[in-house]
Amino acid sequence: MPDGGSEKPMLVDGSWIPAESGKTFAVHNPSTGEEIARVAKADTPDVDRAVRAAHRAFEEGPWSHLRPPERARYLFTVARLIRERLEEIAALETRNVGKPIRDSRDEVGAAADCFEYYAGAVPRIYGETIPVASPGLDFTLREPIGVVALIVPWNFPFIMGAWKVAPALAAGNTVILKPASYTPLTALLLGEICQAAGIPPGVVNVITGPGFTAGASLAGHPLVGKIAFTGETETGKQIMHLAADSIKKVSLELGGKSPNIIFDDADLDEAVNTSALAVFGNAGQDCCARSRAFVQQGVHDAFLAKFVARTKTLKVGDPMDSETEVGPLISPGQRERVVEYIRVGQSEGAKLACGGEVPTDPARARGSYLFPAVLTQVQNRMRVAQEEIFGPVLCVIPFRDEDEAVRLANDTIYGLSGSLWTRDIGRAIRVARRVRTGVLSINCNRSVHLEAPFGGYKLSGTGRELGMHALSLYTEVKNVFVSTA
Ligand code: NAD
Repeated sequence: MPDGGSEKPMLVDGSWIPAESGKTFAVHNPSTGEEIARVAKADTPDVDRAVRAAHRAFEEGPWSHLRPPERARYLFTVARLIRERLEEIAALETRNVGKPIRDSRDEVGAAADCFEYYAGAVPRIYGETIPVASPGLDFTLREPIGVVALIVPWNFPFIMGAWKVAPALAAGNTVILKPASYTPLTALLLGEICQAAGIPPGVVNVITGPGFTAGASLAGHPLVGKIAFTGETETGKQIMHLAADSIKKVSLELGGKSPNIIFDDADLDEAVNTSALAVFGNAGQDCCARSRAFVQQGVHDAFLAKFVARTKTLKVGDPMDSETEVGPLISPGQRERVVEYIRVGQSEGAKLACGGEVPTDPARARGSYLFPAVLTQVQNRMRVAQEEIFGPVLCVIPFRDEDEAVRLANDTIYGLSGSLWTRDIGRAIRVARRVRTGVLSINCNRSVHLEAPFGGYKLSGTGRELGMHALSLYTEVKNVFVSTA
């Protein structure tokens, strides 16, 4: 990327360019409110240019025709360059998203792992031979789809980019990455790294601009063959509509309202310790946030007392401080939305056990900080228990038995992830089978494993990212029959 000071151009067809309109938009640091960059504001003509570049790069090659080890080598190089620049990328991610620096470091390291994984997967993208009734040989080929639009949200900008760019490239597609308007900076850096790795012009393009213009143009463009989207469920629905005219392949990773079920035989200390960050990590702006704690009646009060005590010890502050556990929310508007939800919960009859206040000390006054909140006496039908708040708010809901836990956990439009805590292995397996989520953790809250599929049931999405499953999102299957008659 040319050093244009705080003005950042976009990567299209191997060149760094401004928007055709010359317009830019401001990017802020949520921990201080300061403007930290201005970024090109793409609109339909810019998107069209990027899509045409990606289309030409796909049709003319060489990317899609490279021998597998050659394509893999580029991806290994991207992984190496990410690792070499890990501190720089993590610091930029923290300045732009407000996430604690130690989380940014982990995520950037995981992005490098992701490129390595899919570099290793390149020679493993193969088909089948199928015994058919007709005399001959039947086999399948797995081929790239073509131009793939990758649209990502603001809560995990760099790692979500990696989750999509790496498998899409591994399969031989060309891509257009569109980050969210709040957080475009590390996506541009990923484009720069792909370019530095020698990936040919037009194979990786990065477009910055608003979702309702640039994003919608991308999602509706007739030369785009596939959209991989992560974001809100409502936006996912719009994308499905936009994709319909040209019957694009669509994969969607959407919102969540994940249950965390704590049975009375659980290791309570372990459940409390890890569950605090499972809901308040990333300031609660996590699609997998365990935002509904279902606690069996016998341990409800003990759990609540321990959880509130743990919540009060969380370090909420400057995300560049390595000790910080919870940074600011992405924007003042997002904080306002979360505060409003807490009010709504209280008006519905929930009680605020702790948190929910805006820090007033000078060090945090300019950022979008909020002390993590615990709501008790919540009923699952309340809005705070049904809607994705996307902020640091936990709803605690008691239950009697296994059946009730399952019924409440499933009583939501979402089905992304969830956890359950019990020492009874039979119960763990029974409940895990009945909870309708794409990801489930037993006696921990870890949702994501690079090697394993990730995605949602119900309105949490369609398709599975990560692992070898992701490769099916980015490939077409061709059946070939050779007659021997
Ligand atoms: P969002 O839907 O507002 O935006 C996501 C992306 O879509 C952005 O790049 C945005 O510019 C773009 N966009 C917006 N409108 C568009 C349109 N009409 N056409 C095309 N693109 C459009 O989501 P957000 O606020 O950035 O992210 C938060 C949401 O993302 C939450 O709901 C969260 O649960 C979800 N999320 C899901 C996962 C998952 O893996 N399931 C992971 C992270 C975040």
